[in-house]
Amino acid sequence: MKKFMKNCYKCNTEVKITTTEKEGIKLNCLKCPNCGEEYFTSSELTKFDILKGKKQLIRKFGTLGDSTVMRFPTNILKDFNIKPGDYGVFEKKPEGILIKPVHSKDIKL
Ligand SMILES: [Zn+2]
Repeated sequence: MKKFMKNCYKCNTEVKITTTEKEGIKLNCLKCPNCGEEYFTSSELTKFDILKGKKQLIRKFGTLGDSTVMRFPTNILKDFNIKPGDYGVFEKKPEGILIKPVHSKDIKL
C-alpha cells in the first residue's frame, strides 16, 4: 500500500501503514498512532462496499461467449431512459470510463 498522506489531518502526527477490521472485513489503512484516526483510500472503501454488498452501483464484469459484458443497474437505465437498441458511446477519462447514452430515436438515418 502506498502512503497517500504523511501526517494526520487532526493532530499532525505521522501516520503509519497498517490494517484494520471494519465490520469483519480487513482493510488496509493509514493510522495515526497518536489520536487513532484511520484513513482509507477510495479503493479500500470500494472493496468494503463490494464485500458488504452495499453498493447499488457496482457491477461485476462477466463473459458472454467471447465478449465481456456488464449488467446495468435498473435505476440508471430508468434515470437515463435507456432502452434496448439505444447506443452507448465510451469515453476514456483519467478516472475511468464514461458511457454517454445516445437514444436510437434521436438518430435519423
Ligand atoms: Zn492524529
